Amino acid sequence: RKMHPDNTIVDVGGVKIGEGYFQVIEGPCSVESEEQVIEVANDVKASGATLLRGGAFKPRTSPYAFQGLHADGLKLLLEAKKETGLPIVTEIMNVNHVELFADVDLIQVGARNMQNFDLLKELGKLRKPILLKRGLANTLEEFLMSAEYIMAGGNSQVILCERGIRTFETKTRNTLDLSAVPMLKKLSHLPVIIDPSHATGISWMVEPLAKAAVAVGADGLMIEVHNNPAKALCDGAQSLNPEQFDTLMKDIKRRVEFEGKTMN
Ligand code: PEP
Ligand code: MN
Repeated sequence: RKMHPDNTIVDVGGVKIGEGYFQVIEGPCSVESEEQVIEVANDVKASGATLLRGGAFKPRTSPYAFQGLHADGLKLLLEAKKETGLPIVTEIMNVNHVELFADVDLIQVGARNMQNFDLLKELGKLRKPILLKRGLANTLEEFLMSAEYIMAGGNSQVILCERGIRTFETKTRNTLDLSAVPMLKKLSHLPVIIDPSHATGISWMVEPLAKAAVAVGADGLMIEVHNNPAKALCDGAQSLNPEQFDTLMKDIKRRVEFEGKTMN
């Protein structure tokens, strides 16, 4: 912050985020099929989302759970981008996949890889925005040091994402650390977004915490939306359906306006 008093605005394929620009990244946890990703992409675009997410390489706790469609999933995301014009966001897990992600607009480093330092160093060599999610049990200092790994390589286009941390509480999947937002903004110049979906694991909790994210000064949201949450191959319980997302977006837009920020 000392060396960089101005806030960074990250440009993701023409969509600005940070310092007055508030963006909503949304889409399914995992890309499952062409119909699914295209349908969700069209629906959320109509609701005003500006970036499309979808996992192709999924870090699953169980090796027997759906692991993602891998390279085919990336292809489907690119198709959805062609159809909707929405820049795409997807998670990289392997340092050897950097070339495979060449057409991805915003590369996500998931919570489980926040301290995969070789991966962070490799992403630091790119001139492409990176979405860095906070680790399940990492301090803000460790989080910022991971961002520093990317920036030390010369890539200053980093967005931080608070997605809940492990605590003793079990009613929610994680505990959303809202205080991370003002603290990260005090210590750093990077945009900070909130992921209320992974933070709570419960679809009805997404709305109140999305509202809180706007109020606490976040620069955006990441929300999981599925065209049929009950049938989702991953994270259905925390996913909104397109109608629920549309209702939420109408409300979020008013709140973002109240904060004097711009969406898109
Ligand atoms: C995700 O965004 O799909 C994801 C796996 O999130 P996290 O890394 O925060 O668990
Ligand atoms: Mn998920």
